[in-house]
Amino acid sequence: MKIRKVLTHILRHNLEHPFQSAFSTFHDRSACLVEIVCDNGLIGWGECLGPTLPNAATVQTMSGLLVGRNPLDIEPIWLNLYDQFRDQGQRGVSMTALSGIDIALWDIAGKYFDVPIHVLLGGAHRTDVPAYATGGFRPIGKDRKNAVIDEVAGYISSGFSAAKIKIGFGVAEDCEVIFGVREAIGPDVALMIDANHGFDIIEAIDLAKRVEPYGISWFEEPIVPENLEAYRDLRMRQPLPVAAGETWHGRHAFDQAIKARAVDILQPDVCGCGGITEMRKIVSMSETAGIRVIPHVWGTGVAIAASLQMLATLPPQPPRHGPRDPMLEFDQTFNPFRQAILEVPIPHDNGIVKIPDGPGLGIRIHRPALDQYSIDL
Ligand code: CA
Repeated sequence: MKIRKVLTHILRHNLEHPFQSAFSTFHDRSACLVEIVCDNGLIGWGECLGPTLPNAATVQTMSGLLVGRNPLDIEPIWLNLYDQFRDQGQRGVSMTALSGIDIALWDIAGKYFDVPIHVLLGGAHRTDVPAYATGGFRPIGKDRKNAVIDEVAGYISSGFSAAKIKIGFGVAEDCEVIFGVREAIGPDVALMIDANHGFDIIEAIDLAKRVEPYGISWFEEPIVPENLEAYRDLRMRQPLPVAAGETWHGRHAFDQAIKARAVDILQPDVCGCGGITEMRKIVSMSETAGIRVIPHVWGTGVAIAASLQMLATLPPQPPRHGPRDPMLEFDQTFNPFRQAILEVPIPHDNGIVKIPDGPGLGIRIHRPALDQYSIDL
């Protein structure tokens, strides 16, 4: 079996109702998918986190090192691509592009051996996983507090028992939204806050102390991710568990964060941290260090499926009867192609998501939807 060609698909849908995180405005939903085609007809799918055009260009550049190779040589291919791009590519687009390629290779391997990826990784610790709803962005042109309260209440009534909302717009305004949401959903629903590094350390400490009585499960990306010492400082100076990791790529970045004891919860994204190959090493490092892993997920059904394959294999921690499960981050904000590109969508049932057990990623791509949302390069 040899790799015959590597294709990229950029999906895009312009939003009628744009929304904001702390530093960006979403006028569209977009994604970069990787399709690797083998000479025997097997096809693997992957997805790259982050900016679509640079990801697609980098995947296409890397494809020159892929065509003609045995797709089952996943580790040698990973190392070869990383070595060739290392000098300028230890983090960022080179790693997100490599992640999409790596996921597609694992999809091919699973299909070749007719088993789900989690079997290739050594077997699943679980057949399903609880999910939390991600949403609560700042909508443009609407009252933020009421819109976020309504949105989160909708997630709870659809069965979720955990939700994450966006903050980082200003301490006073954010606190009003957090207080309002907690009041609306009651004490039993897990609530997380994500600042997308919209604060400095003084603001982050102020906000954390104010919202601590409102039962916040974690405080995500309070400050910019480059400054690991500041993260450690922040952890020591406020009461909430601190989470981050979606912008750290490769095991070396996670090694630095782990050694700095920068966070309580690590959030590697399989579509950004280096794919399944690298993420399993990051998971192992986190386990050794005793740091909880709750993966970051942001993308289409391909990203969700790849994350579910990883979630199946995360070791139960701590060892006890009925150990705590990891959680799937399940973006619920409007994205018409997220599930449409799958022949069989990945649903949640009362906030629980079944881990796909078909070959590879366990999904099949619905070509008409892929074509409908693809843009020409
Ligand atoms: Ca986040």
